[in-house]
Amino acid sequence: MDSGIKIDPKIFYNNKTLGIYVHIPFCQSKCFYCDFNTYANIDDQIDDYINSLIVEINIWSNILKASSIKSIFFGGGTPSYIHSKYIEKILTSLSKHFIINKNIEITLETNPNDVMKQKFNDLLKIGINRISMGVQSFDNYQLKMLGRRHDSKEAENSYNILKEIGYNNLSIDLMYGLPYQSIKSWEKTLEKSTHLDPNHISLYSLQVEKGTPLKNKIMSGEYEAPNDDNAADMYEIAEKTLFENKFSQYEISNWSKKKYECIHNKIYWENNYYLGLGAGAHSHINNIRFSNIRSPKLYTSNLNKKTSIKSNSNQLDFIENLEKLSYSEQISDTLMMGMRLNEGINLTVFEKKFGKSMTNLFKNQINKLSKLNLINVSETHIKLSKKGRLLGNEVFKEFII
Ligand code: SF4
Repeated sequence: MDSGIKIDPKIFYNNKTLGIYVHIPFCQSKCFYCDFNTYANIDDQIDDYINSLIVEINIWSNILKASSIKSIFFGGGTPSYIHSKYIEKILTSLSKHFIINKNIEITLETNPNDVMKQKFNDLLKIGINRISMGVQSFDNYQLKMLGRRHDSKEAENSYNILKEIGYNNLSIDLMYGLPYQSIKSWEKTLEKSTHLDPNHISLYSLQVEKGTPLKNKIMSGEYEAPNDDNAADMYEIAEKTLFENKFSQYEISNWSKKKYECIHNKIYWENNYYLGLGAGAHSHINNIRFSNIRSPKLYTSNLNKKTSIKSNSNQLDFIENLEKLSYSEQISDTLMMGMRLNEGINLTVFEKKFGKSMTNLFKNQINKLSKLNLINVSETHIKLSKKGRLLGNEVFKEFII
């Protein structure tokens, strides 16, 4: 955003329930495939960064007034890498400034290496009630190749420690479609994961991102390129294995036990409102999408120089990008996100929100996708078919208007 542009804070005022995402951009080391806004070797910035988050919370509380909060998600980066006193400081500030129901979902992402009894006991006491652990694989060769710091045994031990401490809402992240990953290795990872019996499993197909060490290794021939057909086979194996182990799929990449769907992530897929705090964090409020300054250092220096906490336009110059969504963009976003969910788009909710019937608005597209067997249409919902889940992008692009 041009720093000359002034934002009127009033455009954000709303009395709807929000989700809150808190970005912690610190990691002990950088994994080979990672292109997230996160950094190793900047631990000297942690103190200042947390102070900036507190300033940002103050600013938003003045603008949004006492908004009620539906979920809080600490992501990154590695939120478990920093001391629990910082997480406590952020939670204390949020509960001082927003209406937070006692029983809301509060998730913290962790790496297996960071799981220590004392730390996670403390985190449980201050209100963290859901842990999402980045296991990625139970195959040590794959973990090494991805540049992860843990091995299979450590992931298993960490999971058991979390259980022992008393966390009963645990999620595991796994990756498939990796270079050299055999079907057998993937089956073993799934078997081990289901044996641990978490409430939630997220599966991510590896994306080889530009500028990452993984991309360079593939380009130089050091690693083989991942194989898309293999990845599709692995996805189908996962669908079957997780179904057999009583997990229900509720989104393209997410499975859970009954009543353990991730409340926070559903806010994104249902295209509802959330506030992102921290460097590079994205927000969606009142049909405005915006994101903060990406560099943790610049974000910190911008926020920490604010001496008085007032809701005036100058206070918001830590916002880097801002876009007011048109009516068509709101429709496209709602459809692209909503189609990711297994239940698909609720036709009544759509019509209520946009004042138009989805089946009239997208008559040709719906006919075409039905004939290709990529979507299922019922009286009440339109959703991806089994085939459509593998070819989601083919469906989503039809709904861009
Ligand atoms: S731990 Fe997560 S955020 Fe950090 S470098 Fe690895 S993948 Fe990226």
